[in-house]
Amino acid sequence: MVLDRINFLKDEINKHNYHYYVEDNPTIDDFTYDKLFAELKKLEEEHPELKTPDSPTQRVGSVSEKFFPYTHKHRLYSLDNTYNYEDLAIWYKKITEEYGSNVELVCELKIDGLAISLTYENGVFTTGVTRGDGVTGENITTNLKTVRAIPLKLFEDVDIEVRGEIYMPKTSFEKLNRESLEKGEKVFANPRNAAAGSIRQLDSTITAKRDLSIWVYASILDNVPNPPQTHYDSLMYLKKLGFKVNPNIRLCKDVYEAVEYCKEWENKRSELDYATDGVVIKVNSFAIQNDMGFTARAPKWATAFKFPPEEAVTTLEEIELGIGKTGAVTPIAHLTPVLLAGSTVSRASLHNFDEIRRLDVRKGDKVLIKKAAEIIPKVIKVVDTEERQSKKRYHIPDKCPVCHTPLEFRPGEVNLYCPNPDCPAVNKARLEFWASKDAMDMDTVGPSLIQQLYEKGLVRNPAGFYKLTMEKLLTLEGVKEKTAQNIYNAVQESKTRPLKRFITALIIKNVGKETADILANEYGTLDNLMNASVENLAAINGIGEKMGKDIYEFFHDKKNIKMIKELRTLGVEPPPAEVPKSELFKGKSIVITGTLSNMTRDEANDLIKQYGGKAASSVSKNTSYLVVGLNPGSKFDKAQKLGVIILTEDEFLEMINSSEKNPAEQD
Ligand code: NAD
Repeated sequence: MVLDRINFLKDEINKHNYHYYVEDNPTIDDFTYDKLFAELKKLEEEHPELKTPDSPTQRVGSVSEKFFPYTHKHRLYSLDNTYNYEDLAIWYKKITEEYGSNVELVCELKIDGLAISLTYENGVFTTGVTRGDGVTGENITTNLKTVRAIPLKLFEDVDIEVRGEIYMPKTSFEKLNRESLEKGEKVFANPRNAAAGSIRQLDSTITAKRDLSIWVYASILDNVPNPPQTHYDSLMYLKKLGFKVNPNIRLCKDVYEAVEYCKEWENKRSELDYATDGVVIKVNSFAIQNDMGFTARAPKWATAFKFPPEEAVTTLEEIELGIGKTGAVTPIAHLTPVLLAGSTVSRASLHNFDEIRRLDVRKGDKVLIKKAAEIIPKVIKVVDTEERQSKKRYHIPDKCPVCHTPLEFRPGEVNLYCPNPDCPAVNKARLEFWASKDAMDMDTVGPSLIQQLYEKGLVRNPAGFYKLTMEKLLTLEGVKEKTAQNIYNAVQESKTRPLKRFITALIIKNVGKETADILANEYGTLDNLMNASVENLAAINGIGEKMGKDIYEFFHDKKNIKMIKELRTLGVEPPPAEVPKSELFKGKSIVITGTLSNMTRDEANDLIKQYGGKAASSVSKNTSYLVVGLNPGSKFDKAQKLGVIILTEDEFLEMINSSEKNPAEQD
């Protein structure tokens, strides 16, 4: 029995190793793989007599035969890993029992890329090799020479071997996939596979075209005079030699500080432009490291804490059609519930019907889903299985599932639309948007309440909200006095929401909350905006001719004029937009990065606006200042490259304070 299970696990893991390491095309998610691996490891520990040298637990990765093999001078290892803090504490306790209570640790982000080893002779880059199976790797020197972040010559003429992770920035990965999609080529499941696939190209001109970079995290310092004695110092030394060492490393005095680091980065990693799948925790002292040594597969002096998985494989049970506020019909995948990034997920976005065609996704398929920056995860790809060929292809619907009006494609757009202005699904979506946080922010008025209000004919358009009385609300199912009062208050309070929110709530074509903010700042009052000419609108920075025309047409449409008039009669009157306090930042575009200590990011952005500036979210050559908090992200590097003025949080506040003290000097 046990032997059968062990053999099954070995076969499964070997198969997945091949897909992952050789083909760069995994068919299960890492979390599931890690579970299989942990089960095999546990069974082998319980039955050591069944452990064989060819077990995947005794080996590292795999090598493909695409490149010349290269025998590493010094073996490369993998890392043991865990998904929980308890295991970390147990690991550390064992170390302190042996080496005393003050064992320092170094925490580093675990970069989700491809491990490589670089050899330098006399300070000159000679050989670059993949980790492979740890003993033999693939010689990819020519390809690695195309990665600009790898120095070809060091600042000191030393003989040294360094290890690092080749990665592809998230933005470059998305761009590469977009371009591949347009050309009908294969897309990569994640930045790791994209980096591994790009650096292991037989034609190095292809590698050269891909945006790859490296973080270096270890070295063999045998031939270096007076070598550093700790891991942390060795990283500083690598930096001095000219290597790219990740700025987010931290020396921790014990495991508690290491856990703090893990918790901090579990959330913050989404701000980084490179993928990380955990934190690597290493004993700082080389003396202790040498004494502890290695298992067959991993160092005993290091371990990886893996973040909750952001990818998972599950079954697509059904494709549901969602109808949005513009009438756009979006396919949504209903999934067998699965754990993803710490929560159970049962729905994922499929974007549009082009995407369904591209994925060729069919009911009952096993799909890989991923949580990206968005809250709703998306379906990345179908995991191939033989039986899927017998499943029926998905047919694009031709009628609205709610009002049965024929759906239409609009020229130049990938979305399919329900064109019926009276479609109940569209109207409900518009009402939900009206009440949402970004628009009129009616706390307690959510989709299920709106569903009831709509079905009962109490609210069919935005004005309907403001005609609601306590009596009417009390007729709703499950609504008692207190709830009714809360709903009533939320509706009343929304009557004086700022102009930018009111503009957002109107759902003008292509006008999102950022554009609404621009319009509110530019025109100050609703009347000014309603009376603006096309030319005047088009001349605003960020609006342009097409959008200017759309906005003008919206405010000159009889139905819209009537709706706004009715809302005003019912007491909905956005107050004039706030005039900036000063012109200190007039014409300046300011970006924030890192964690600020005196205020939240939203507060800082409000300050920028109050002082006449534009709060932007990404750094470009038009950025005037970058305000840097703790642990800045990639915006910091970009700003430095572009020569943008960098301000600390204190300098930024000081600018504001001194302008308050000396208003006359502002010019
Ligand atoms: P790993 O990726 O979990 O950890 C070891 C590697 O971490 C090192 O080799 C190094 O490349 C990397 N690393 C990144 N940042 C580092 C840093 N700062 N310091 C040191 N090392 C750092 O181990 P692995 O052996 O490369 O791969 C095993 C893992 O790969 C599995 O746990 C699983 O998550 C995944 N995998 C998945 C599949 C699949 O089918 N989904 C198949 C095989 C492996």
